Amino acid sequence: MDCEKCGTPAVMHAAYSGLHLCESHFCRSVEKRLRRRVRDDVLLPDDATPEDPETWVVGLSGGKDSVVLTQILHETFAEDPRVELVALTIHEGIQGYRDESLDACLALTDDLDIRHEVVSYEEEFGLKMDDVAREDPEGMAPCAYCGVFRRDVLSRYAEALDADKLLTGHNLDDEAQTALMNVLSGDLRQMAKHFDASLGSFDRRGDEHADEFVPRAKPLRDVPEKEVALYAHLRELPTHMAECPHSSEAYRGEIQELLLGLEENHPGTRHSIMAGYEEFAAIVAERFRGDGDGPNLGECDRCGATTTRDLCRKCELVEAVHEADA
Ligand code: SF4
Ligand code: ZN
Repeated sequence: MDCEKCGTPAVMHAAYSGLHLCESHFCRSVEKRLRRRVRDDVLLPDDATPEDPETWVVGLSGGKDSVVLTQILHETFAEDPRVELVALTIHEGIQGYRDESLDACLALTDDLDIRHEVVSYEEEFGLKMDDVAREDPEGMAPCAYCGVFRRDVLSRYAEALDADKLLTGHNLDDEAQTALMNVLSGDLRQMAKHFDASLGSFDRRGDEHADEFVPRAKPLRDVPEKEVALYAHLRELPTHMAECPHSSEAYRGEIQELLLGLEENHPGTRHSIMAGYEEFAAIVAERFRGDGDGPNLGECDRCGATTTRDLCRKCELVEAVHEADA
């Protein structure tokens, strides 16, 4: 088949849009979708100036999604003095996985010449994810610990770097999976959290604690995973494809299979899930805003993080791992 835009041989066919595209028109279409999302989510406020630029911290893991996000953002804003990009990589301490992906991050940030910060669980918490997975003092999946540690590192460093936004590389498949998981579990609070963690919501946050969190954004959330992978491949970007050996999200895997099957039989399913879900999640988030744990928020006795208890969850988990490892 030939590209519908220019007639040269197509490299891809998107069933949900019916389009066949050549390499150059495909790459442009990925870039256009990301830039449209940046505009529609109003990531760059009108009052940003070259004298007072916006600092955008990009979570860079070395996987295809965050590499593609960083590359396109860099190309979009390299000449724009109103935006400064900083890449932030978290080293979890996972042998045979993280060192390799860190190499991909370093190759990219060297090539683009952007500021790059690397933070390790070992330096921050005195532990590695390999130890956590071995000791498992709370009887949880490794990802449950890792998620708590990652959120802590991201929010503290985003603040330390004076970030105006924290951007992550979630793609359309990631988002549609999370949406479906939230709907199927019937967990409305989780849905409200997902919305507040960036379904384009940060400019609408109205709760009294909004200032304590750096707004999040996911500019790649309109692009399917396969297309992100193809883009990285066609542009020969440095990426690390292996899966984390502690990956344990069995339920997400089931949902992923389900969605891939639905998408094949009913192209456009992921897009339609997200269209309805975002509106629904906005209503749910409004319902919980300023409700529940809001008024009782205090500071962790040990690290000062915002929490409803004496010790925050991260400090609790770090302590449990250290005790088990002693
Ligand atoms: Fe951490 Fe789980 Fe991701 Fe591995 S798969 S890096 S354990 S969250
Ligand atoms: Zn704490």
